[in-house]
Amino acid sequence: NVRVRFAPSPTGPLHIGGVRTALYNYLFAKKHGGDFLLRIEDTDQNRFVEGAEQYIKESLDWCGISYDEGPEKPGDCGPYRQSERKAIYEEYVDKLIDNGRAYYAFDTEDELDAKRKEAEKEGTKFSYGPKNRDSLNNSLHLSSEELKEKLEKKEDYVIRFKTEAHKTLELHDEIRGYIEVDTEVLDDKILFKSDGMPTYHLANIVDDHLMRITHVIRGEEWLPSLPLHVSLYEAFGWDVPKFAHLPLILKPSGKGKLSKRDGDQLGFPVFPIEWKDPETGNVSAGYREEGYLPETLTNMLALLGWNDGTDQEFFSIEEMTQKFELTRVHKSGAKFDPEKTEWFQHHYLQERPVEELVNQFLPILAQKEIYPEKDYVEEVVKTIRERATFVSEFWDLSFFYFEAPKEFDEKSAKKAWKKDSQVWMRALIAKLKGLEDFSQTNVQAEVKDWINTQELGFGKIMQPLRLSLVGAMRGPDVFHIAASIGKDQTISRLNFAIE
Ligand code: GLU
Repeated sequence: NVRVRFAPSPTGPLHIGGVRTALYNYLFAKKHGGDFLLRIEDTDQNRFVEGAEQYIKESLDWCGISYDEGPEKPGDCGPYRQSERKAIYEEYVDKLIDNGRAYYAFDTEDELDAKRKEAEKEGTKFSYGPKNRDSLNNSLHLSSEELKEKLEKKEDYVIRFKTEAHKTLELHDEIRGYIEVDTEVLDDKILFKSDGMPTYHLANIVDDHLMRITHVIRGEEWLPSLPLHVSLYEAFGWDVPKFAHLPLILKPSGKGKLSKRDGDQLGFPVFPIEWKDPETGNVSAGYREEGYLPETLTNMLALLGWNDGTDQEFFSIEEMTQKFELTRVHKSGAKFDPEKTEWFQHHYLQERPVEELVNQFLPILAQKEIYPEKDYVEEVVKTIRERATFVSEFWDLSFFYFEAPKEFDEKSAKKAWKKDSQVWMRALIAKLKGLEDFSQTNVQAEVKDWINTQELGFGKIMQPLRLSLVGAMRGPDVFHIAASIGKDQTISRLNFAIE
């Protein structure tokens, strides 16, 4: 049974790279009829940020990425918040000490600093590991009595993993294939800190094992930890899950990784939903608040590093679930493309039920104290939605359906309003006054007929007419506008333009 997890640390808002990791895990689980877990990795108390966990859950929820087990959705492997699992990690690190795969290290910060400086002088870098651990202040060369004494005296210590010396590790990544690593380049990572909390490495491996995770799908930044993680599984005598490290998401320029700070600088959100920093009070933009639809974000993110092998670009979550394959995830970084994101958004806005768009537009109109019939708004939305990418553009694209233009765009006026326009608009008013049936088709037929019999150029009438109704040379079919606002309003706008 496939079981995967998304394991964010609540150290701040979730960046869209994190959302993509969650999405790929979700798709993979659903494709294989498996389970998707959310695990909160909050063992680093120094980096804990208030509200971050809530933010992560709300983001996933908005994106439609639902999990089967997690902090508020208990399964049989809880708790799903690492800070609540301390006793478990203590029990497991003891096992490693007992079987000789971990040891106590009593080196003080000052001692380690001195070693670092020494190494620097020699032009090397200090690392605590197989080559030098025998000469350092740790339990590897203490008798059990000596160790007991130190522990009873409550000397500060950390627990380190004992890397095996001279061994070639053969690692496998589902996306990258085989990787060989010589343990000589590894150091003895800390598993338990002096504050009595496990480090990420220990907690992560213990939990993935106890939570029966079959596939670890996570960001490329964790690839350097893979040798340690695989060594830990072996030290415990556990089966190693499969690993897949996802490519980085790059800045639009392709130069470097897209970071949490890029949003403000590059002018597009890098967060799924708005984030208010609890310390500084700074607000960072989110896709939700900018008016994007969740399906825009998930579709865009899915294609940042994956495709189904065809040219298809639009995928619903359900469709992606059927087609997603880890073997089709790219190895190289994917450039984030804000324009492409808007292109997806334009597409998905067209797909929304018109009713929903109307309901979002009504409050915008109400703010302007405009309260039209719902049917009327629906007709307008149907007419203009194709030109819109966001609901927030609706007003600008359609205000002339609701109120007379307050001013005339200068450039358009110059182009459209000629010396004789006044005369012709008066004649047009007379013509319109005589019309009984003011439907779009009838007004159009009558006016066109009239233009023909007068042997006038089309533009001579149509351009000043549009200018009068809209205030600029844009908008949908001018007869649609005229019929919608009605005869009186059309004539009144023409009169106003003549003056
Ligand atoms: N807590 C780690 C993170 O925040 C999880 C890494 C992993 O998935 O193993 O990215």
